[in-house]
Amino acid sequence: MKTNHSTPAIQSDHFSLEHYAEVLAKAITLGYKFPTVSEMKHGAHSQGRFLLLRHDIDVAPRYALRMAQLEHSLGVRSSYFVLLHSLYYNPAAPPHWEALRQIVSMGFEVGLHYETDFFEAHGIDPLEGVLSDVAALENILHIKIASVSQHRPASSAFLQKLNEYYVDAYNHDLMHNVRYISDSGFKWRKETPLDILGTEERIHALLHPVTWTFGELDMAGTYRRASEEITAEISASFEDFISSTNGYLSKREQLDAARKQLYSVPASKCAP
Ligand SMILES: [Zn+2]
Repeated sequence: MKTNHSTPAIQSDHFSLEHYAEVLAKAITLGYKFPTVSEMKHGAHSQGRFLLLRHDIDVAPRYALRMAQLEHSLGVRSSYFVLLHSLYYNPAAPPHWEALRQIVSMGFEVGLHYETDFFEAHGIDPLEGVLSDVAALENILHIKIASVSQHRPASSAFLQKLNEYYVDAYNHDLMHNVRYISDSGFKWRKETPLDILGTEERIHALLHPVTWTFGELDMAGTYRRASEEITAEISASFEDFISSTNGYLSKREQLDAARKQLYSVPASKCAP
């Protein structure tokens, strides 16, 4: 893996869940509605004043859950998008599944955060790949998916095709007919959500849950903390595996004998 430690670090902006609560409170006070991505299917102009909150889960569902709990406590609705080919989390693994199911059960929209580059790298038609990933995620989480968002830029021809099936957060309408703002790179471009609330009627905000999780940490600190938490969880699981394997080995003779007894069929019942 290539790393480049010599690139100078750019100072991150400040993000925290307390600050996020302030943003949401201002939006509520100013009368913004909070539609989900699929509710935008009739176009941005079909809605009045709104703040479309989109959350791409790039790191781990546990951070998304904290953000969703905060939104839920304020009566705010939003949409969360899940990766299927991430090294950091697997939506079918128990802790991640449980966090995602809690997000679903609080009434949030959950969709696929798709990765066309995965399919392109493996010689699979990207549209077929994304459609089968949607079906897989629907089955894993027991949901019906109505919206998707891309993890890395896809071609506009691909977006157009995919939009025939699902509302894509990157469709032309949601990127051009609204004010788009994103916390990408832990750095706002010119204005923050607090600056544009009240001056812009239709806002599409891409906010990554992990970015807002550790208030005192910058971009590098946040990713390193998340890395520690994820690796600690996996290491603890391996330690459990080691001790249960040792436990099994210490009792193997008794266990083998018990199993032999369980599966032995009396000769009289066997013969015709
Ligand atoms: Zn992403």
